[in-house]
Amino acid sequence: MLMKNKLISDLERVLTPKNVLSEIEERYAYSQDAANSPDIKNIADAVVFAETIEEVQQVVKIAAKHKIPVICRGAGTNVVGACSVEHGGIVLNFSKMNRILEINRQNMTARVQPGVIVGELQKQVEKLGLYYPPDPSNLAVSTIGGSIAQSSGGARTFKYGSTKDYVIDMKVVTADGEILQTGANTIKNATGYNLGSLFIGSEGTLGIVVEAVVKLIPKPEAHQVLMAYFDRIEDAVEAVDEIIERKVLPTTIDFMDKNAIQTVEKFFPSGLLSNKECALVIEVDGFENSLKHQSEIILSILNAANASAIQCSANEDEYNKIWTARRSSMGACAKLKPNVTTDDVIVPRENLAKLVLGIRAICEKYKLDVCMVGHVGDGSVHPQIPIDYRDEDEYKRLKTAKSEMYQLTAELGGILSGEHGIGALKRDYIHMVVNPAALEYMRLIKKTFDPDNILNPYKIF
Ligand SMILES: Cc1cc2nc3c(=O)[nH]c(=O)nc-3n(C[C@H](O)[C@H](O)[C@H](O)COP(=O)(O)OP(=O)(O)OC[C@H]3O[C@@H](n4cnc5c(N)ncnc54)[C@H](O)[C@@H]3O)c2cc1C
Repeated sequence: MLMKNKLISDLERVLTPKNVLSEIEERYAYSQDAANSPDIKNIADAVVFAETIEEVQQVVKIAAKHKIPVICRGAGTNVVGACSVEHGGIVLNFSKMNRILEINRQNMTARVQPGVIVGELQKQVEKLGLYYPPDPSNLAVSTIGGSIAQSSGGARTFKYGSTKDYVIDMKVVTADGEILQTGANTIKNATGYNLGSLFIGSEGTLGIVVEAVVKLIPKPEAHQVLMAYFDRIEDAVEAVDEIIERKVLPTTIDFMDKNAIQTVEKFFPSGLLSNKECALVIEVDGFENSLKHQSEIILSILNAANASAIQCSANEDEYNKIWTARRSSMGACAKLKPNVTTDDVIVPRENLAKLVLGIRAICEKYKLDVCMVGHVGDGSVHPQIPIDYRDEDEYKRLKTAKSEMYQLTAELGGILSGEHGIGALKRDYIHMVVNPAALEYMRLIKKTFDPDNILNPYKIF
């Protein structure tokens, strides 16, 4: 207790006192994230809101002095326990460092603080005819800092890449409170080791991102979305292969399985066809007069692949209606039971149908419901499993099913995350897909950057 009082007074000395939360209810509220895992029961010693880079440096120095963890927090929406509190420490919240510092039209870059909301950055750059493509589906709340730390992707990754492809420079506060700069305001950089790539996806375990420069591209002039239904998953995957073979590059090729379609239809009626095995949601973009050409090629492929009831958005309302249905899947799934878990596994696209059918078989074996959505263009699947954590037997079955799901993914040449990260929930399985030598190098890198293990310790591995 004495130690904690000293911690709070140290923090209040360097931060505005209103930015230091110490009541148990306040600390409790910031100790979990969207993973909401029943296995994580610890609580932060303090929650702080930084407003400047210097304050972040001071907080890290205090954590180093007390030898306690610093756990960065954006919006807390990651689904792998990446900012859950397992060993006490300071939760460092970035919601007050949320300014877009500069949008440079000539360089086509934006310089931002870590707490900027991804959707807000998109809105502001789009007003200038520019575009920031990375689009985690909860971009209305998730932050740039969190999406850098998780290397977030989204539906548009297929065409445009993910967060890692857009961050060209960062200021990072290191474990000893110093500032490290990873690049420059340039599109290319072949000047020494690519330190930036180490921090992207490092889940706050190597350093704290306090400023980032992201690359922008010109905003596509127009977009259109098509939705098509199939009676066989294999037909849908073949249609995707054919689209890619015909050199059309859609912005997005997303997927919903029968359970996802039926669950969305049950809770958020959207006119989806509930009797079909799966649906593809395909978006194209580009110059207005190129859309018709792209859509015609895709339509001919979909028809040849036995797709039915194909819809093409004719205006923004129809476009939004299709996307709202696709994005409602997790919300709908959450209505089936008190809790819902979502996952993120990815295989080479040639093995996608095997992965989807295999996950379904595993869930049937363990009597679990599963709604599957995914970004099939990339080979990634998000199995969403509703669950009641109070039912111990069901929770045990969930854990066994997940372990088998990861094993299957490994056997199909895949990896355990394409965009959500590993966090606390998947670290026991990372050895299934990362070989011992690579894991050893990851541990050495962690030791080099954070010898006292204070930055979000024990996450990832
Ligand atoms: C409904 C729903 C839909 C989702 N859809 C997608 C999707 O389509 N694609 C996708 O990729 N993800 C998705 N996610 C996962 C999640 O939204 C992303 O991981 C997100 O980008 C995290 O942002 P955040 O601000 O909430 O970060 P947080 O959850 O707060 O933090 C994530 C990690 O980043 C670290 N961190 C935060 N800020 C910093 C910083 N400044 N410096 C260093 N480390 C930091 C934290 O310690 C933690 O390890 C979804 C989640 C939900 C709940």
